[in-house]
Amino acid sequence: QKVIEMLNVSFLKNVGNFALDVSFVVDSGILVLFGPSGSGKSLTLQIISGLIKPDKGFIKLNNDSFFDSANGINLPINKRGVGYVLQDYALFPHMTVFENIAYGIRKGGKAEVNKNIAELQKFLRLEGTEGLYPHQLSGGQKQRVAIARAIASEPAVLLLDEPLAALDYPVRSKIRNDLIAIHKRFRIPTIVVTHDIEEAFVLGDRIAVIEEGRIEQIGSRYEVFYKPATRKVARLLAVKNIFDAVVKKVSSKGLAATVESDGFSITVNSKDNLKAGDNIEFCIRPEDIKIQKAKGARLKAKGSKENIVSAKVFDIQEKGLVHTIFAGISDDDYLFQINLPNSTYRRLSLKKGKKIKISLPKELVWVIPCRLADEQTFI
Ligand code: ADP
Ligand code: MG
Repeated sequence: QKVIEMLNVSFLKNVGNFALDVSFVVDSGILVLFGPSGSGKSLTLQIISGLIKPDKGFIKLNNDSFFDSANGINLPINKRGVGYVLQDYALFPHMTVFENIAYGIRKGGKAEVNKNIAELQKFLRLEGTEGLYPHQLSGGQKQRVAIARAIASEPAVLLLDEPLAALDYPVRSKIRNDLIAIHKRFRIPTIVVTHDIEEAFVLGDRIAVIEEGRIEQIGSRYEVFYKPATRKVARLLAVKNIFDAVVKKVSSKGLAATVESDGFSITVNSKDNLKAGDNIEFCIRPEDIKIQKAKGARLKAKGSKENIVSAKVFDIQEKGLVHTIFAGISDDDYLFQINLPNSTYRRLSLKKGKKIKISLPKELVWVIPCRLADEQTFI
């Protein structure tokens, strides 16, 4: 069995007014680099590949340095063994599929190369396309050829920069599965850049959230989605319901706290030594707020555990896959965004102005831990 490779990077780079300052490790799972446009994702990949030289830092694969400013090491691109796939395919237009894939292969006799290419074609659902030219391929096929070419070189590291962004939805979800299959088979450190939330969740065994050249949080898909470290991460991952609140009371064992926000009060888990008077932020994903069915009496009995809040439907947005309910306490604005599957929406027969009871289940409410750290950066 092959030893699991580990990519370890830590570098600084200033380009114009933009400062990139990142450190992270990529192990056996796919790392998704997720962030808004202009946050430094492509620059990070360009630096790892060797296209751009960082000002300072290191890039190591296990004990081999690709770059190390302390020791004056800077391996050229072709010595790094990095497979690099771009959003816009970048195939050679005058070469066939076979020639494009073969371009990446560096060793082996003719028979072996043919066999490798046939295998890659099969693996990436490209059988029968070997004689075609890029202009004769669909977008999805082109991108699969680009991926085949990148892995044909048996790279030690695979970097994919928004590889699916230009493709239609059904094609995208199929190639996602291809990427997961490739990763399972080759088990090399893999970084996928995306600004698509669903893609980040599906592909990212771990997700690094980057904004303005800095990693805001790195963790499992569940940590990043449900336990954002900062308000920024919560915002970037579309948590939507983010509240400022004050701690009113802490339970005798210190495990729960009653907190008061703008016009409502709930109970949250308290593992962070919360005390009365503390200012906190908490959040809950729009998929995790529940709307109670009309008959409220029975539900009321379960009481505070369910964190029930009386509210009013402020607006309803039909989004195709879900309905988003905007609910408020006062009439002039909304506080909560709730995503309901369409079937649930139909059962509830909601309309604007209707009084509802919503519940914010305690185990799904997350107290954002880094408020103090956020504030200190502004002092
Ligand atoms: P992303 O891929 O996350 O959208 P990029 O990594 O391409 O963002 O760019 C990050 C920032 O660095 C942007 O503000 C961009 O304008 C700037 N930038 C990237 N490459 C260069 C360059 N070669 N020269 C000057 N600025 C650059
Ligand atoms: Mg980019």
